[in-house]
Amino acid sequence: MPRRILITGASIAGNATAASLVRHGFDVTVVERAPAFREGGQNIDVRGVGRDVLRRMGLEQAALDRGTGEEGTVWVEEDGTEAARFETDAATGDGPTAEMEILRGDLARLLYDAARDDATFRFGDRIAAIAEDPHTAIVTFESGAIERYDAVIVAEGVGSSTRERIFAGENDPRWLDLTLAYFTIPRTPGDDRMWRWYNAPGKRSVSLRPDRHGTTRAMLSLQKQAAGEQDWDVGRQKAFLRRCFADAGWETPRILAAMDDTDDFYFDVLRQVRMPRWSSGRVVLTGDAAWCATPVAGVGATLAVTGAYVLAEELARHDSVAAAFGAYEQHMRPMVEDGQAVPKIAPRLLHPSSRLGIRLLHGVLGIASQKPIRTLASKVAGGKGEEVDLSRYT
Ligand SMILES: Cc1cc2nc3c(=O)[nH]c(=O)nc-3n(C[C@H](O)[C@H](O)[C@H](O)COP(=O)(O)OP(=O)(O)OC[C@H]3O[C@@H](n4cnc5c(N)ncnc54)[C@H](O)[C@@H]3O)c2cc1C
Repeated sequence: MPRRILITGASIAGNATAASLVRHGFDVTVVERAPAFREGGQNIDVRGVGRDVLRRMGLEQAALDRGTGEEGTVWVEEDGTEAARFETDAATGDGPTAEMEILRGDLARLLYDAARDDATFRFGDRIAAIAEDPHTAIVTFESGAIERYDAVIVAEGVGSSTRERIFAGENDPRWLDLTLAYFTIPRTPGDDRMWRWYNAPGKRSVSLRPDRHGTTRAMLSLQKQAAGEQDWDVGRQKAFLRRCFADAGWETPRILAAMDDTDDFYFDVLRQVRMPRWSSGRVVLTGDAAWCATPVAGVGATLAVTGAYVLAEELARHDSVAAAFGAYEQHMRPMVEDGQAVPKIAPRLLHPSSRLGIRLLHGVLGIASQKPIRTLASKVAGGKGEEVDLSRYT
């Protein structure tokens, strides 16, 4: 059985994999390029089999205890009046706000805490090169250290450089024509427990969400074709957003003013990662590095914790790394492909260009909010709810 494992990336997927592997007694090292554990990020939700995984890891209740306390979603007009309201379904947890709604940083921290005593964490370093001999992967780090591992698990997120090094040219990204920025701003008395979503003409949206840290999470999104903005520095990205949202209305001036002082600015131009294979020799991809579905799909964290668990279980069951990686891909791929089934039209539907389009969207949402719906995402996303069967791991 492989014993010595290197994981690169210490966010949701990396920490979940580390926590799952140490339970089986693996010798795990995690390397993260950031100088320390990364807090930050907005509301993410964990649904279905993802919750089963957290339960199996003994973390479900802790994740629920750290919930954002968000009670639903309200689409608002420019003056703040409600156009449509979706409250979280207490029975199913479904709707735009899920029952297990947690901040990305809080979930990553929970998983990190579950792994940190038994795994070795190396912050502020990254992989510079990977070579293989018949028995091991030989990893050279930027710090100059050289180590041997039985397997290397790449959990570096959507822009993974190790993926590009090992699987050069294999990713066939699917761009979703949506640019997003998330950051934390001071809370004001008008911020309630609802996710407030405002559409501005010009394919723009602005939203505010509660958290349990006494602050408010802001999101700006812009429906447009990608033009390389993900590679700009933060100063240029902020200047771009200030320009694009200057006249958006509603609470936007407050949000733009606070953007300058925020220390957890996260910017992304959405693209799905589409890889024909997830492993090569002793290297395997997981989480967004393997299959980023984008926040539009609403399954990123669910896929990350599920993939982590399945990969760890398969490594524990097989003597050969290749057999473990093959079984992992076989069991995860149907769920991933289903989760990625977001029609490209979805961001457009949620970002009308004209005031008339916004009125139509509000009308449709107003009708949808009257009926029991499983999730708003499932209305536009079209996934069938394909999930991994965990019963083989009992
Ligand atoms: C700071 C932050 C904020 C986020 N905010 C949101 C949000 O608000 N909403 C949302 O839907 N999603 C957000 N995401 C993305 C979300 O976490 C993922 O879509 C999903 O949870 C899958 O996680 P992942 O672990 O696969 O990838 P990610 O969460 O992207 O984590 C990748 C990790 O790998 C590290 N890394 C990258 N390259 C290297 C390298 N070469 N060597 C070593 N380490 C590397 C990164 O620093 C990061 O810690 C955020 C991610 C981060 C890192």
